[in-house]
Amino acid sequence: MAEYEYETHEYDVVVVGAGGAGLRATLGMAEQGLRTACVTKVFPTRSHTVAAQGGIAASLANMGPDNWQWHMYDTVKGSDWLGDTDAMEYLAREAPKAVYELEHYGVPFSRTEEGKIYQRPFGGHTTEFGEGPAVQRTCAAADRTGHAILHTLYGQSLKNNAEFYIEYFAIDLIMSDDGICQGVLCWKLDDGTLHLFSSKMVVLATGGYGRAYFSATSAHTCTGDGGGMTARAGLPLQDMEFVQFHPTGIYGAGCLITEGARGEGGYLTNSEGERFMERYAPQYKDLAPRDYVSRCMTMEIREGRGVGANGDHIHLNLNHLPPETLKLRLPGISESARVFAGVNLNKEPIPVLPTVHYNMGGIPTNYWGEVLAPTPDDPDRISPGLMAVGEAGCASVHGANRLGSNSLIDLVVFGRAAAIRAGKIVDPNSPVPSPNQKSVEAALDRFDNARYAKGHMPTAALRLEMQQTMQKDAAVFRANETLAEGKKAMEEVADKWSDVGVTDRSLVWNSDLMETLELANLIPNAVATITGAEARKESRGAHAHEDFPERDDENWRKHSLIWFKGNKASLGYRGVHEQALTSHNDGGIDPKKIAPKKRTF
Ligand SMILES: Cc1cc2nc3c(=O)[nH]c(=O)nc-3n(C[C@H](O)[C@H](O)[C@H](O)COP(=O)(O)OP(=O)(O)OC[C@H]3O[C@@H](n4cnc5c(N)ncnc54)[C@H](O)[C@@H]3O)c2cc1C
Repeated sequence: MAEYEYETHEYDVVVVGAGGAGLRATLGMAEQGLRTACVTKVFPTRSHTVAAQGGIAASLANMGPDNWQWHMYDTVKGSDWLGDTDAMEYLAREAPKAVYELEHYGVPFSRTEEGKIYQRPFGGHTTEFGEGPAVQRTCAAADRTGHAILHTLYGQSLKNNAEFYIEYFAIDLIMSDDGICQGVLCWKLDDGTLHLFSSKMVVLATGGYGRAYFSATSAHTCTGDGGGMTARAGLPLQDMEFVQFHPTGIYGAGCLITEGARGEGGYLTNSEGERFMERYAPQYKDLAPRDYVSRCMTMEIREGRGVGANGDHIHLNLNHLPPETLKLRLPGISESARVFAGVNLNKEPIPVLPTVHYNMGGIPTNYWGEVLAPTPDDPDRISPGLMAVGEAGCASVHGANRLGSNSLIDLVVFGRAAAIRAGKIVDPNSPVPSPNQKSVEAALDRFDNARYAKGHMPTAALRLEMQQTMQKDAAVFRANETLAEGKKAMEEVADKWSDVGVTDRSLVWNSDLMETLELANLIPNAVATITGAEARKESRGAHAHEDFPERDDENWRKHSLIWFKGNKASLGYRGVHEQALTSHNDGGIDPKKIAPKKRTF
């Protein structure tokens, strides 16, 4: 057994992650009088949420008619009928409340002439259950909405006496022998000390795993640590094959140009100067959902109509918009285009390419954020003491494809829901359970093994192999052959883990060791993605399978689940929740409106 000293901290709740989801959960828990700690590997306002540009969806109807049923319908259709109906209803219904709460907490939203929250159009958001024109539903603070939300929630959390442990890296969950989560073991990066957080509830809010791919819009810190910890605790990951490619990553750099750019009137063109989205999506045009626009761009490039010397990307045009609009509504991306593409938005188009952006899959939860440990007899069985919110979780509201601006709202709606639930099930007067020593020792041993890893392969080399495999074989379009090759290649990457070598043995600011632990988390996320994709013999949402181009509801309208035993992944499935929360007679949505049908644009 590895000999390490550690300090123990006791709390009612420990939230891991200080992005939008983690901070909203932290704030909510603290407001309820629960002793709450928030542990984060980066300073809270540097979490990836800070980079969110375009906005947050809620049917406030500030710019024209809108209601939660239309928002729910768009989310159901966007998910390609893989989302859980109860969770999608909860999201759409609670969204306006959650946004007004943010406003009252102090988020500086952009305003309309009358002083209401400004809302812009976004892909896939419509009126009249998809029959009417696009709706302006996405609430924005210029093109820096995530920045505004994150700073506000951090300030509010401090005001409510939540305690922050900043630059603490969560290594592993501590689980009792009968599967109850009892806390988390962390490594303090700046002085090398170890800390055991014992608690009655752990909330994973660790964000996505975009960095499993070579080119991603997400921060380098998005390494799926929550998914890795969950998999090691013997719990499954869900729907991991659904990875969103955002149509407009800057060519070469990968940085994002928000969909809000097309919301404000921007459009895509090919080498012939054609606005090709009008051909593919006569109704939605450039504001079709992301999975579809990314596929259309890829088809244009494949058919020889890409732009640039190699014909390998597409143009996003904004130069027809008045300079005042660009300055007022899109100041951030004007700067990104200048810095990362050398483009003056007022004069030239931006070179763009579909780029990995979001993970629809994650740790399965119910709509209260409680983590699920499904069995064949009980697909909704709860794993006690553990919650997951935000991009790390899978409630599942995004199903096979997330609509733009539906993630920020997911963070705050489900961060808040987790706090409401914890307020009911966590008793502040009960004692904190004493942690299972076997589980603590296993976590320390794993940490020690990584620290002293003596293999031949540098972490960066194995990471690159994984990223290139995922980029090539789990791409916008997939096929039997490439998926099978990719799965095999990823299994080899996972096996090479034992040959990784770490050169720095110290404990203080050891970025070599931290990146190694992050890679250990990325690998199961990547293996789960390609294993789920290889098995799913249909096309749905972001999973576009060339050998099975149609959606197959009869056999595949179900969530994939992936468990790990060591390196080895095994697959299972659970049914989609088809039941809404509220019956139609009580003001709920008409089930006929959301019954599965072909997705057209
Ligand atoms: C460039 C970009 C623009 C986007 N724009 C929009 C938009 O306009 N609208 C929209 O709805 N969505 C948008 N999205 C998606 C959305 O922003 C993200 O899905 C969302 O911000 C994720 O939030 P989160 O709280 O789940 O995680 P994050 O914000 O990624 O935060 C994760 C947190 O977990 C912590 N953490 C992770 N691992 C550990 C560990 N091992 N130990 C301790 N702490 C850990 C990190 O320190 C961090 O605090 C955008 C995404 C990107 C990449």
